[in-house]
Order: sequence, then C-alpha cells, then structure tokens
Amino acid sequence: MEMKPLKIAGGGLAGLALGLALRRESVPVTVIESATYPRHRVCGEFISGITDAELESLGMEGLMAGATQLQETLWFDGERPMLRTSLPNQARGISRHLLDGIMAERFVAHGGALLTGQRFTDPAIEGIVLATGRPSCESTWIGLKAHFLGLPLKADLELHLGNGGYLGMTRVEGDRVNVSGLFHRTESLTGREHRLAQAAADAGLGSLAERLREATMVEGSLKGVHRFQLGWQSPTDDALRIGDAAAMIPPITGNGMSMAFQSALAAVPALVDWSRRQISWDQAKQSIRKSHHTLFARRLRWARRLQWILLRPWGRRLCAQAVSRRWVSFASLYQLVR
Ligand SMILES: Cc1cc2nc3c(=O)[nH]c(=O)nc-3n(C[C@H](O)[C@H](O)[C@H](O)COP(=O)(O)OP(=O)(O)OC[C@H]3O[C@@H](n4cnc5c(N)ncnc54)[C@H](O)[C@@H]3O)c2cc1C
Repeated sequence: MEMKPLKIAGGGLAGLALGLALRRESVPVTVIESATYPRHRVCGEFISGITDAELESLGMEGLMAGATQLQETLWFDGERPMLRTSLPNQARGISRHLLDGIMAERFVAHGGALLTGQRFTDPAIEGIVLATGRPSCESTWIGLKAHFLGLPLKADLELHLGNGGYLGMTRVEGDRVNVSGLFHRTESLTGREHRLAQAAADAGLGSLAERLREATMVEGSLKGVHRFQLGWQSPTDDALRIGDAAAMIPPITGNGMSMAFQSALAAVPALVDWSRRQISWDQAKQSIRKSHHTLFARRLRWARRLQWILLRPWGRRLCAQAVSRRWVSFASLYQLVR
C-alpha cells in the first residue's frame, strides 16, 4: 500500500532530523525551510545529552565526525573562576553553519525533498509537522552569538555567569570559538557590532568583554534573536510541533539541540504508523505529545530552576559551595537537565 506523504515546516535540527529518520522508513517527506544553507544561527553549538545510538536511529551516524570533542569545563562567577570540572560524558562542538548544511545534504541524498527560501504559511492540517523553532512572543530575553578567531580558551567550555545573563565559549571547527549567551535586552544591545562584548559588560563580565574586543569576530557570524519564551510553548492551535516549536529548554543547559533531536526521534514511530495508514492523525499527535511530556517535563522544570539560581550571585555561591563540599555532585546536577 502506498505510504502517505508528510510535510515538515522548518529545516533546522528538529525538522531535518525527523526528515532523515522518516526517510529510513521510506516515508515520502518534504522539508520546507524559509532560509538557505549554510547559515549561522544563534546557538551555543555545544551538543550534550544525545547518544550515538540515538543519532544512529535518526540516520545521523558519522555526521558529527568533524565536531570537536569537549570534556573540560571552567565556570566563572562574574569575573572569578568558580569551578573547574570534567563533564560526565564527552560533549561535541560543531557549528550550525556546518551541521545544518550536512544534515540537509544527507536528507536530499536519501530521497527527501527540500524546498529552501520558502516560508510555510498554510494552516497546519493533517500530515504537516511544525519544526519552525522558537515561536515569536513578547519577552525581555535576547540571545546572541558570533564566531571568533584569536580567542584562546582556558577550557573546552568556558561558562561565564553574570547578573541576569550568561555567556558560553566553546571550540567548534578549526580555530574558531563560538561565543553565545542569553541576556536581558537593553537599549545598549541594539544594532551594535560589539553587541556581545557590550552584553558581557552589562552583565558584570568586564574582563571577558575586553577579551572579546581584542579577538577577531568572523564576518557574518554575529546573530541575535529576541521575542521568545523558555519552557513549554503555548500555541493557540492544535498543530503537531517538535523541537523548540514545542518546548525550549533554557540554553544554559546546553541541551536544546539534543532535545530537538530527541523530540524528532520520539515522533518517528507514530508518524510511520500514520503514513502506513495504521493510525489516525489525532492518534499520532496524542502519542507524540505524550512521549514529549514523558521525556522532557522533568528536564524543563529543573532547567528553569537552575537557570534562575545560576544567574544570581547568591545562587552561584550556593551552587559552588554545594559542589565543593560534596553536598551534591556536578554530575548529578548535570544529569537533572538531560
Ligand atoms: C542563546 C542561545 C544559546 C544556545 N546554546 C545552545 C547550546 O549550546 N547547546 C544546545 O544544545 N542548544 C543551545 N541552544 C538551543 C538550540 O539552538 C535550539 O534548541 C535548537 O536550535 C532547536 O532546534 P529546532 O530545529 O527546533 O529550531 P531551529 O534550529 O530554530 O530551526 C527552525 C527552522 O525553521 C525555519 N523556519 C521558521 N519558521 C519557518 C516557516 N514559517 N517556514 C519555513 N521555515 C521556517 C527557520 O529558518 C529554522 O531553520 C541555544 C539557544 C539560544 C537562544
């Protein structure tokens, strides 16, 4: 029997991962992406929490071969080093410029139809999955990112926690360092070339701002986003959503990309059954939403609490003390948001 075709709006990580996994099951899939590849995206580009087995189930085996292996982290409380620690599991550093592009190439090589430069505006009816990323809404947050050259790091991942904002720095391909952070939006951050350095200075991270001003920013890599909401999204329609379009974990956890992959993976069995005409679209949606809640509810709750605590001076002191006095291990805090 002929399989029913599926359309995915949004060719970011969640959309392309879902497309790749469905092609493994021979489902006819079209991904509609409003941008073109390759392109820079606001993201810390630090991947942690997804296993090799999960990547393989998505049809992504070997795609991260160019990623940098990341293990050592150094955390700063404002200007002061607060904790040097090893990650419980190795993480990966890879730019979205590279990753989204190679995922798109593999999707097409495996028979997927990819339409770029086209914004999906139709109603999301049966057979359409929205993987359109963070929905636009009122918020005080701004996310920034840029690649730098000539920026030596003191660990594979430096995490600078400031007042009301944070900045992460990690090695991606070659000599590039990705610098990305989340801040409260102020007038001083609008339209400036040195927005990242300004944001760091505003959050009380003056020496870091100096380091950024002395390094060379890669042309075209500075990106910013605002108008987004962390946590479960609250859509007004009944469309099926995956990735950030369904729920956005606070970026400080470095788990959003893994969640995008996992939310795609969780959607595969029900969508294959729907395509084979074994279940209805409503049954597929219900089953996928249930899996997302089971997988992500606890993670999202803890991530919100941890971000709230870490962006306050007393919270950082408390966390550093708790880890150094062994009241709680770094690994167990890390696992709470994975
Ligand atoms: C400041 C910041 C730092 C972060 N750091 C990290 C980190 O270090 N590690 C980590 O794991 N995660 C991080 N994240 C989170 C991570 O970037 C996201 O969770 C991840 O990109 C979600 O993938 P997605 O596919 O759901 O959405 P996206 O990657 O946003 O993809 C959505 C795609 O849909 C397209 N699109 C949107 N609307 C339409 C439309 N109408 N029609 C067609 N196409 C459309 C967009 O062009 C885009 O390509 C960070 C996020 C921020 C804001």
